[in-house]
Amino acid sequence: AKRSGQGMIRQFNQALSESEQERQALVRDLRQVIANDQLSLVYQPQFSIADGGLTGCEVLVRWQCPKRGAVGPDVFIPLAESNNLISGITAFVVRQANKELVESGMLGDTIRRVSVNISAQEFNSEKLMSSLLTMLHQSPQLYPYLQLEITETAALSDLSASVRLLTRLRELGLKFSIDDFGTGYSSLAMLKNLPIDEIKIDRDFIHDLLDQPRVRAIVEAVATMARTLEISVVAEGVETQEQLEQIRFCGCHEVQGYLTARPMEIDQLTDFVRNQWSS
Ligand code: C2E
Ligand code: CA
Ligand code: CA
Ligand code: CA
Repeated sequence: AKRSGQGMIRQFNQALSESEQERQALVRDLRQVIANDQLSLVYQPQFSIADGGLTGCEVLVRWQCPKRGAVGPDVFIPLAESNNLISGITAFVVRQANKELVESGMLGDTIRRVSVNISAQEFNSEKLMSSLLTMLHQSPQLYPYLQLEITETAALSDLSASVRLLTRLRELGLKFSIDDFGTGYSSLAMLKNLPIDEIKIDRDFIHDLLDQPRVRAIVEAVATMARTLEISVVAEGVETQEQLEQIRFCGCHEVQGYLTARPMEIDQLTDFVRNQWSS
């Protein structure tokens, strides 16, 4: 028994060090692709629920790794955060979105709002935020259309500091959206205090909307409050017509999800926008 116990421990340690090695290899490769500008972008359109018009798009980063296939941002963004690589990713995203959208000819014409995700680590670091601002100014064409998405948890870690920061940045013409709204512990405090332009109701709520009357009541109440506060409400992760009807009924303003459009590369986005407006 003793021997097999030791064997199990050895196996366990081996598995642990293999996954640790794999993690280190992933970080090494990530550092490399950031340095070589080998990440790429997709854009997911957002629409007005009232008239179906395009309201903007969210920029999402992609890593197509030759060895591993597609590595999801859910995997590599947290890794980037814990290895001081997040600024490099945000810098790439902003620079590349500026380039692609300007070249497409859509920026300021059909696309008038571009949402970029900012990580919690970035938002809560004075140093990273000031280098972010410098970066944003280096993309002057994109700047007037930028909206920054920060998660609810990021903004909540120090609410009064967030209020000061957001107030200052909005004076610089930046717009702000609270991502994954409803997943934190004081969503009401955020609505009460934060100077923001938009909230995005988390996908989990949308998922439960049809069969949970409580969820419907919450979404409806949030949309009503937001309307009074002149904050736009985006429902994200909308996948079915039934969900769309429910969010319309609840008074949400905008929709983003696979039902209306998947995230797509810039060329597809150009075709998508062109087809929509010529038909
Ligand atoms: P998020 O900000 O909540 O982004 C929305 C995610 O939902 C995206 O996943 C998008 O592809 C997915 N999605 C959109 N519509 C639907 C739908 O109808 N159904 C379902 N099931 N999913 C839908 P993605 O691109 O894998 O990104 C995952 C997360 O990674 C993002 O969540 C965001 O937190 C982070 N992320 C992505 N790009 C960036 C980036 O450039 N910078 C930072 N800091 N984080 C990013
Ligand atoms: Ca987001
Ligand atoms: Ca979200
Ligand atoms: Ca999310």
